[in-house]
Amino acid sequence: MKTRFDAIIIGGGILGVSIAYELAKAGLKNICVLERHYLASGSTGRCGGGFRQQWSTEPNTRLAMASVKRLEGIEAELGYQTEFFQGGYLIVAHSDEEVAQFRKNVAMQQRLGLDVKMVGPDQAREIVPHLDVSKIKMATWCPTDGHISPFLLTQAYANAAKRLGAEIHLWTTVTGLMKKSNTFFVMTDKGPYECNLLFNCAGSFARTIGSMINVDIPVDPYRHEILVTEPVERLWNPMVISFGIGLYTRQEKNGGVVMGMGDPNEPVGTCVGSSMHFMYEMSRRFTTLFPKLAGLRIVRQWAGLYEMTADAQPILGPVDEVENFYQASGFSGHGLMLAPAVSQLMAEQVTTGRTSIPIDDLHVRRLRGAQAVHREKSVV
Ligand SMILES: Cc1cc2nc3c(=O)[nH]c(=O)nc-3n(C[C@H](O)[C@H](O)[C@H](O)COP(=O)(O)OP(=O)(O)OC[C@H]3O[C@@H](n4cnc5c(N)ncnc54)[C@H](O)[C@@H]3O)c2cc1C
Repeated sequence: MKTRFDAIIIGGGILGVSIAYELAKAGLKNICVLERHYLASGSTGRCGGGFRQQWSTEPNTRLAMASVKRLEGIEAELGYQTEFFQGGYLIVAHSDEEVAQFRKNVAMQQRLGLDVKMVGPDQAREIVPHLDVSKIKMATWCPTDGHISPFLLTQAYANAAKRLGAEIHLWTTVTGLMKKSNTFFVMTDKGPYECNLLFNCAGSFARTIGSMINVDIPVDPYRHEILVTEPVERLWNPMVISFGIGLYTRQEKNGGVVMGMGDPNEPVGTCVGSSMHFMYEMSRRFTTLFPKLAGLRIVRQWAGLYEMTADAQPILGPVDEVENFYQASGFSGHGLMLAPAVSQLMAEQVTTGRTSIPIDDLHVRRLRGAQAVHREKSVV
């Protein structure tokens, strides 16, 4: 088995496989992804599948817009069906404070060229007929947002990367890292590997990987629970988000309604067990916005990890301490939707030293020291 590569990527989630593909496409042929379990076994395979361009910070908005542009042609490029569906995102506001913040967001997003607008309760009801609009003041609406299957997108990138010569070694756990002159020695439970370029795409475990080579990557894992109901007739097309109530929900192609929520009481940790508390609380929140759908029956619930940074924006690019050690982590619950652009940018950075969208503001050094943190506000 080959163990000497030009580039090794730790993690076989959406970031790992999309970066493998973009590197191979950019001309690097000798690439390997190391994944301790199977593809999409981490957060990727547990996520809600949504992609949206409606953010409060410019870096996230730019990355998300570039990602959606990329996703629009992804099935043709990768030769794989992904259930890509632009059903839009409706984000509802419940208070005057939220309306004021949404107006600011929309002005910034429109300045960057996004097709997004504020809509009143009546228009919101036309878009999502089951919504109880007496609970909302306004909403924002972007018709080119949508959702996609995380499993199919991961497989699409992985197959395409392999066709270009990349290798993917599953059931291979990275246990230690060392660097001597220009060579990284990557210790695994299957023996040592070597490479010159190393990518940390370990998701919620990015901090652990960084610590193996004394680099602090401040990403903290938080459990995030989610459920799906029985399939029912088509109810609506978009993802609906309420930051005020703390939920997101969309309907799958087969009719199941997926819903998840943020829990401010969730401690840092890597537990991905399911809780009764979530099932009750999720049901309460959902029926607050959709009282007519109280009869929907839950068929499955599960949990995954949000990989949070202090400003809820990703950590991208090189680090100061170790040359050629690249980071793509800390997506704070939004990595699936940012991966299509981020993977391209990482390949650009490695092969040309520049990126077509600036990512300097997302360097890990912003999270160290006493600088003020400009936090992304649009997070459930
Ligand atoms: C409930 C839930 C809902 C979400 N909804 C959305 C959504 O709608 N839209 C969206 O864009 N994002 C969503 N997310 C976030 C999204 O899932 C993540 O941001 C994204 O999957 C991160 O991808 P990744 O490749 O960085 O990490 P992961 O998918 O976690 O991949 C990292 C991989 O690294 C591997 N690994 C870790 N340590 C090692 C090691 N030592 N050796 C080898 N391999 C290792 C892991 O096994 C894992 O497979 C959601 C997340 C959750 C939990």
